[in-house]
Amino acid sequence: MKKRIAILGSTGSIGTQALEVIDSLNSQFEIVALSGGNNISLLKEQIIKYKPKYVCIKNEDNKSELKNLNTEILIGNEGLKEIVSVDEIDLVLVAVSGKIGLIPTIEAIKHKKDIALANKETLVTAGKIVMKLAEENGVKILPVDSEHSAILQCLTNRKAAKHLIITASGGPFLNISKEEIKNADINGALNHPRWKMGKKITVDSATLMNKGLEVIEAHHLFNFDYDDIKVVIHPQSYIHSAVEFCDGSIIAQIGIPSMHIPIQYALTYPERCEGIKSESFDFIKARMFEFYSPDYDKFPSLELAIKAGKMGGSAAVCLNAANEEAVFAFLDKKITFTDIYKITKSVFENYISIQNPSIEQILDEDEKIRIQTKYIINNNLF
Ligand code: NDP
Ligand code: MG
Repeated sequence: MKKRIAILGSTGSIGTQALEVIDSLNSQFEIVALSGGNNISLLKEQIIKYKPKYVCIKNEDNKSELKNLNTEILIGNEGLKEIVSVDEIDLVLVAVSGKIGLIPTIEAIKHKKDIALANKETLVTAGKIVMKLAEENGVKILPVDSEHSAILQCLTNRKAAKHLIITASGGPFLNISKEEIKNADINGALNHPRWKMGKKITVDSATLMNKGLEVIEAHHLFNFDYDDIKVVIHPQSYIHSAVEFCDGSIIAQIGIPSMHIPIQYALTYPERCEGIKSESFDFIKARMFEFYSPDYDKFPSLELAIKAGKMGGSAAVCLNAANEEAVFAFLDKKITFTDIYKITKSVFENYISIQNPSIEQILDEDEKIRIQTKYIINNNLF
């Protein structure tokens, strides 16, 4: 039987690579639904190729461009909710970026669909609620993020596992000084040495905020205390993460850096398939694995994110929203690279976290923080 899949964010970096994985898996999947944002021309090509029954677009204005394609067009956030609720879907790949991933993920879980989760913001902002809901509904949350996919593969015995070791490439600014980082421009921040990703996550990888968000993600996914999650800089990105057990053994997942592999593992879990024939990892050619401690002074966003995770409640909602708005302002050339941290920190430090927030409170807080952050940016109040 084919697995019936919906891909939310099919026009993005993860979405397009997921379609490449599916192409390579010889009809193991039926694509029932796709969704895109602004890239309507790519979405149109995808509709023609994959013939999904449902498609969701961000703006109603684009509907006319997709007429006569024999697919039902749904619109906006409500459309995403509708798409994930239909009976003929088994698995939802949530590969939209940002906060719009949360509500369709919750809706999909309520409708007992397994989730392949790329959208880390969902766990960062509402991990406690999402994981509880998944357990209650008997739904699997399968991580797409490469570090978490690695941990899933290494975590052979939860009871005997002591630490999670999350690796980080260190991003494009690993080897430049704190002074030089002050002059970093957009091209420098987007020039990631190992991964080709969407812009927001690429900037987060340059500040190491991404690694902080991943620590929060790991805490929720695998139920580890923050103090038992370590971050290690590994510039080669061959070890995608590891688990240390009580007897001192460490199991690490190794491979060439390619998102095809974790995407495929989430889609075919628990099976492994040949799929896309990627280059084999060659230990002799690799020669060297380097490891360093993160430089928290040069990359303070990492520590700020872990602090927010440890605080719990809605603290990470604030961190995530403030950081995202600051990253957008940086990409719009309104602020400098180091302002991203300055702004996020100033919003975060003045924030009073709500304990055990509901989804409605999370969305309200998110909205409030975004308005506040934009105000601070537009009026130079940082
Ligand atoms: P991209 O920016 O490349 O893609 C985002 C996708 O979401 C696109 O399909 C985009 O549509 C769509 N989208 C964005 N905003 C909206 C909106 N308001 N309404 C509807 N659709 C929208 O991001 P990535 O693929 O890089 O990342 C996706 C998620 O996966 C993020 O949460 C990221 O943190 C996570 N992730 C990504 C990794 C990677 O390697 N790229 C690795 C690990 C996690 P369009 O392009 O048509 O506008
Ligand atoms: Mg990652």
